Amino acid sequence: MTTLKRSVEHLKGVGEKSFKRLQKLELKTLGDLLLHLPLRYEDRTRLFAVHTLEIGKSVVVRGRVQHVEEVKKGRKMLVCQLHDGTGKLTLKFFNNIPVHLNALKNMEWLQCFGEVRWGFNGFEIVHPEYPATLECALTPVYPSTEGLYQKDLQKFILRALNECEDDLIEYLPENFLQQFGYPDFHSALQQIHVPTNSDINPLAIQRLAHEELIVHYLTMRQARQQAKRWQAPVFSQNKTIKNTFLNALPFKLTGAQLRVIAEIEADCQRNQPMLRLVQGDVGSGKTLVAAMTALSAISNGYQVALMVPTELLAEQHFRNFTNWFAQFDYQILFLTGQLKGKAREQGLKRLTAGEIQLVIGTHALFQEHVQFQNLGLIIIDEQHRFGVDQRLALRDKGEQGESRPHQLVMTATPIPRTLAMMQYADLDVSIIDELPPNRKPVVTRVLSAQRRDEVIAKIHDWVAKKSQAYWVCTLIEESEVLQGEAAETTAEMLTQALPNVRVGLVHGRMKSAEKDAVMVAFKTHELDLLVATTVIEVGVDVPNAGLMVIENPERLGLSQLHQLRGRVGRGEGESYCLLIYSSLPEMAQERLKIMRENNDGFVIAEKDLELRGAGEVLGTRQKGQLRFKTVNPELHGHLFGTVARFGDKLFAVAPENVPLLIARWQAAAVNYVEV
Ligand code: ADP
Ligand code: MG
Repeated sequence: MTTLKRSVEHLKGVGEKSFKRLQKLELKTLGDLLLHLPLRYEDRTRLFAVHTLEIGKSVVVRGRVQHVEEVKKGRKMLVCQLHDGTGKLTLKFFNNIPVHLNALKNMEWLQCFGEVRWGFNGFEIVHPEYPATLECALTPVYPSTEGLYQKDLQKFILRALNECEDDLIEYLPENFLQQFGYPDFHSALQQIHVPTNSDINPLAIQRLAHEELIVHYLTMRQARQQAKRWQAPVFSQNKTIKNTFLNALPFKLTGAQLRVIAEIEADCQRNQPMLRLVQGDVGSGKTLVAAMTALSAISNGYQVALMVPTELLAEQHFRNFTNWFAQFDYQILFLTGQLKGKAREQGLKRLTAGEIQLVIGTHALFQEHVQFQNLGLIIIDEQHRFGVDQRLALRDKGEQGESRPHQLVMTATPIPRTLAMMQYADLDVSIIDELPPNRKPVVTRVLSAQRRDEVIAKIHDWVAKKSQAYWVCTLIEESEVLQGEAAETTAEMLTQALPNVRVGLVHGRMKSAEKDAVMVAFKTHELDLLVATTVIEVGVDVPNAGLMVIENPERLGLSQLHQLRGRVGRGEGESYCLLIYSSLPEMAQERLKIMRENNDGFVIAEKDLELRGAGEVLGTRQKGQLRFKTVNPELHGHLFGTVARFGDKLFAVAPENVPLLIARWQAAAVNYVEV
């Protein structure tokens, strides 16, 4: 066993208390310690003259003690004046005053260390460390927790470095290291934790991050391969049923839909679980692809679970599937938080007994008491709204002996190819790159908030033509309370300004029953204008609503804007999206221009990546999902695009190193990937 896996518990100097504190920092193994990187470095390698001090910098200063005095008015403190011949520096102590007074009053010279601030009397340091010695190299400062001192943490890491020395083997190919100018694994850690002078080689950290990214990719790739060792139901194709279904549709499937369906069918004819992600722009018709797949599972005698993130969307899908499958004798269960009491009990019983063929629902689906008879296919819509473990919880319900259900996950948030390769390495990917014919692009205009009145007048005319509209309020704050309030205020304002318009309001703070009631009213055209926060982003389909106003669009990411805009442009006529900004810095101008000029989610995602960088794009998308130890997406985003290529190459040239690499990072308790 590699020493990296050893528990920190047995490290010399780690007592019960430190052990607890290390656990709090999620530092459980020696490997964890080694990959616990400094937040920053302190430079204690040289003396600073007072006249060269800078505010915010931590420095060692040496000077003559000129004056020590306890100040009693206001907050009690001890003040000490240092003079080094170039200027004077004030030291302040608020705690343990008698101790410091005693120590300082007899000192002639003092060398101390601390962060420089600007005070009433010029430069000052509060609670300096003294006496401070000069070091010959930079001192790392680690993220820590209460009661765990830097000195101890440093000591532990140093010991871990010594104990693990023989296991810090280089697994990446020589020419890879050369190409980037990277130090080997051992020296990288050495350079990071035990600097030898007053410089840090940035490539030492980048090397670790790069390795971690590659390992992340390799882990996902391996997880995918392992997942395929399971058995899965085989769906054979029933042409008659398929044609009955297709012939009843009021339209023909697009070429892209047919291609993706064929890819899925090929997967499901093999006796290993499908793990396929379907990416398709808003409105590209993913639901029908899901329906076709569900059909082939059901016609082979298997149950299907379709999971969606909101009640609203569940209801919409329920209505669609009920229509589409009307000609077959299938039982469909609608399972959300709304289903309660007897009805729920009854529904779940029938599900367990195998009397239900298709269940459509929200998070309610993976809850404990939900049991299937023979779940053969799981479909997750808008997968980016779910955590991986939620998907797995549902999958586990379909596990029977050696067999697992097929999984189809769908997302309308296109992600640039380079990022997708890394992020979805655990899935096969299909892309619907074509919209149904006769879709007119949404006309997008960018307007200043000063023209709000014109926009309100436009809504008046629009509604007079029996069409409907959305008004979306955005806030930078994540707080649903504030967002809700902003939307409420706007709804009031619009109700007053537009007396003949029936205005509705939805926001994230409303109960889902209330939200649904409003949405149904909007869908059935009992409301003309829907004021909303970004909660309406996902999946909602009201073809008669062809106008959308988005306030302060500069606050949203491009993909999110594109998702929102996808709510319109679903009907016959021309449709519009009006982006009303209040202030527009240059970067934001550029971004809104992209929105104005493009209607293709994939193009928008690529441009977003170019403008904002991988860190931002992934950061907003993947809150909490990708967790790295050494990767900082802001700093290392430019490496993402290289990861799949180097990962695959490593598989080709040194496959024996792959499990070793993965084990090394897993020893450091990196997020466990499973599919
Ligand atoms: P999304 O990919 O965003 O989930 P949907 O599946 O909701 O898109 O489809 C959007 C709309 O397009 C729906 O009203 C659907 O019935 C319709 N649609 C899907 N496929 C086609 C097609 N091939 N031709 C015409 N309309 C289609
Ligand atoms: Mg959809």
